[in-house]
Amino acid sequence: MDFTDRLAKERRARLAAERLLEQKSRELIAANEKLALHARALSDQIVEQRHVVHTALTEAEALKGQASRFLGDLERAHSAADMAERRLWDSINTIRDGFAVFDAQDHLVAANRAYLGFFNGQLLQPGTPYRQLLDLVARSGIVDLTEAPADWVALMLARRAAAEMEPVELRLTNGQWLRIVDRRARDGDLVSLVVDITEQKRIWAAIEAIPDGFVLFDREERMLICNQNYRDTYPASAPAMQPGARFEEILRYGLTHGQHVDAVGREEDWLAGRLAQHRNPQGAVEQQLSDGRWVRAQDHQTPDGGRVGLRVDITRDKEQQKALEDARLAAEAANRAKSAFLANMSHEIRTPMNGVVGMAELLCDTTLSEEQRLFAETIRSSGEALLVIINDILDYSKIEAERLTFYPVPFDLERTIHEVAMLLQPRAYAKGIDLLIDYDMFLPTRFVADPARLRQVLTNLIGNAVKFTEAGHVMVRVVGFDLVDDRQELHVTVEDTGIGIAPDNLDHIFGEFNQVESQSNRKFEGTGLGLAITRRLIERMEGAVWVDSELGQGSSFGFRLCLPVAETAEPQRLPVEIHRALVVDDQFINRTILERQLAPCGIEVVLCRSGAEALVTLANDGAFDVVLTDHDMPEMDGIALLRRIRAAGWMVPVMLLSSNPTMAMAEADAGELAAILQKPLLRADLYRRLKSLTRPAEPQPEAVEVVTLLPPSERRAVRVLAAEDNRTNQLVFQKMVRGTGIELTFAGNGREAVELWQTLRPDIIFMDISMPEMDGREAAQAIRAAEAGQRHVPIIAMTAHAMEGDAESILAAGIDRYMTKPLRKSAIIDMLIAYRPAEAREIIREAEVLVAS
Ligand code: ADP
Repeated sequence: MDFTDRLAKERRARLAAERLLEQKSRELIAANEKLALHARALSDQIVEQRHVVHTALTEAEALKGQASRFLGDLERAHSAADMAERRLWDSINTIRDGFAVFDAQDHLVAANRAYLGFFNGQLLQPGTPYRQLLDLVARSGIVDLTEAPADWVALMLARRAAAEMEPVELRLTNGQWLRIVDRRARDGDLVSLVVDITEQKRIWAAIEAIPDGFVLFDREERMLICNQNYRDTYPASAPAMQPGARFEEILRYGLTHGQHVDAVGREEDWLAGRLAQHRNPQGAVEQQLSDGRWVRAQDHQTPDGGRVGLRVDITRDKEQQKALEDARLAAEAANRAKSAFLANMSHEIRTPMNGVVGMAELLCDTTLSEEQRLFAETIRSSGEALLVIINDILDYSKIEAERLTFYPVPFDLERTIHEVAMLLQPRAYAKGIDLLIDYDMFLPTRFVADPARLRQVLTNLIGNAVKFTEAGHVMVRVVGFDLVDDRQELHVTVEDTGIGIAPDNLDHIFGEFNQVESQSNRKFEGTGLGLAITRRLIERMEGAVWVDSELGQGSSFGFRLCLPVAETAEPQRLPVEIHRALVVDDQFINRTILERQLAPCGIEVVLCRSGAEALVTLANDGAFDVVLTDHDMPEMDGIALLRRIRAAGWMVPVMLLSSNPTMAMAEADAGELAAILQKPLLRADLYRRLKSLTRPAEPQPEAVEVVTLLPPSERRAVRVLAAEDNRTNQLVFQKMVRGTGIELTFAGNGREAVELWQTLRPDIIFMDISMPEMDGREAAQAIRAAEAGQRHVPIIAMTAHAMEGDAESILAAGIDRYMTKPLRKSAIIDMLIAYRPAEAREIIREAEVLVAS
């Protein structure tokens, strides 16, 4: 062996070793790798295991926390539930209603204090059977039982056994009312509620006690309650009147059961109407029920949108109303009968009165002894007084029958007042009373109204004032207030200084037939109708009357009217030529009135209280254009003053103001007086006289007319036809026109009048209205028809019928004027003068003079 071999051997050995090493190291690496892989898997596993463990631990921790929280909650829940139960029971104990729970075996489980309180339940405790509770209650006498205790217990138990337990109401002996409402729960427990309904019962009892029907509906129109009277009002509908029933159902039920007779044949319309009325209540409506009764139905909305209704039985009211209406109709019929009776009576009374008064008047014109004259005058004045009464009664009945018509025309108010005053002047003069008129200077005098009615009012008031005044004066004062739309408000007052009226009587003197009854008053005659008529007339003219009076001092009666002004007041034409006037009058009022009438004309007025004072004034200062003196003055009267003035040589014109001009004329020296003025003074008259002082005298209307005589050949008598069936009236008429020189022919009825008119062709016809065969109206119509186109003959009606309708129908028949009976000589002659033909002027002159005087 060589080395090489050795070397080779060694090399081979090394190579082999190297290869082995390599293999071993490869195996090691592989083993290592495997080990590493394994180790990694293992470590992963461990990590995972650890994670799992960790998670499990965490979860276990959490669960433990949860469990402890849950336990805490549970504990708290338990105590809260305890608390809640306690609270619940506390609350249940505080409520006023009773509350109890029974178990399925009807043993008491629990009850609140109110429950125990109602049943005096000290003996009750959980476990007490319901039956025992009933026994206790029944025996204790707490409940006001209508049946035996055992029966009541049985009833209550039977009720408890029913499937649907109706509420039951108990009346306790202490007056309380309870309602028990029981409900069975699903588990068999029973809850019992006891409500104190004492207040409700009280209200309900009150509702039942009211005598009217009462009903309450909710906003869905369902009935809540109604009382028995409501049911009784609609008995046929009553069965439908159950709480909860709809209004429409009740109505429909009523319709099918004949409750609503007024709906028959128009049911749906009726129903719609009733529902509309219910939904929109408009106050009370009256309903007639099927049995004839009447109710007043009143529905109102309640604050919650419901309806409350009342049904009041007004059958008796209706009956009374009917009775009243019947009575009113009967009274009206009676009133009409009365008016007709009065109209007829007036005719019957006036006809013979015509004879009495007319004949008495004629008798007075004949030569009589003193005694005979007294008798005749008494007959005449009594007759006239009687006529005044008849006229009053007639007027009143006319107003009452509303048959009084007003005829407004333009007229002069101042003149009207003056005329009335003039008519009453003789009476005032006889009593020594001054009758004065104070008409507002700046007031128009012409107005539109019915002068006849105003004259009547003035005559009543001024007449009363004169009647009830013994001394002093009566003054008519007229003042104007606002002028609105050509209408003037006027206040007319009549003041007197008479007996006056006690305050107690002031209220009723305007009533019918009312007079102040007293010693001082008894002596005055009258019907007690004057003021009643006055008031009614003024009220019909839309005015008002009033009175103011003091017993023993005097009275003031007034009225207010608003009248259209007939023309604008022309400023009075001033008597400018007169600058200064001396007024002499002992009466303060007279002096002031005169001053007020003169001053606005620019006249300086000096006032004197007596003749003596006037003489002194004149002596000091004679520059007066006129002296106006009163006639009747103490010490020195007006005429004595005139004489003294003339004696002193003063030529100033003197005018005498006198209540009795005839006497003044007789006393005064002719021509010495510038004028005698009639008191009360008419303003226009005063101005005219003052003007005539400085101007050529104007013809005086009241002076006797200067008659132009026709040649005797052309003169002829006035032909008068008088149609009058009554012999006495014919005689009266004949005597009244005696001395007038007329040619008088009588017709006994209308037919005769028409015939005589054709043959006689009279100048004027006086026609009675009520005549047999053909009355005055028919005769007038026949004449008017026949005379068509020819000369119009004046026809004057003479009527005893004073009812208003007559005047209209008379004039409608073609009659020109009418006079009411009893006839007056002056009225007949007035007509003759007014209607006489020109050629007959002279004839009536004698009579005319008679009238003028
Ligand atoms: P008559 O005058 O017809 O009795 P009236 O109705 O005119 O009826 O008056 C009623 C009553 O009023 C009179 O009776 C009288 O008592 C009272 N009376 C009326 N006017 C006056 C007056 N001016 N002064 C006092 N009393 C008067």
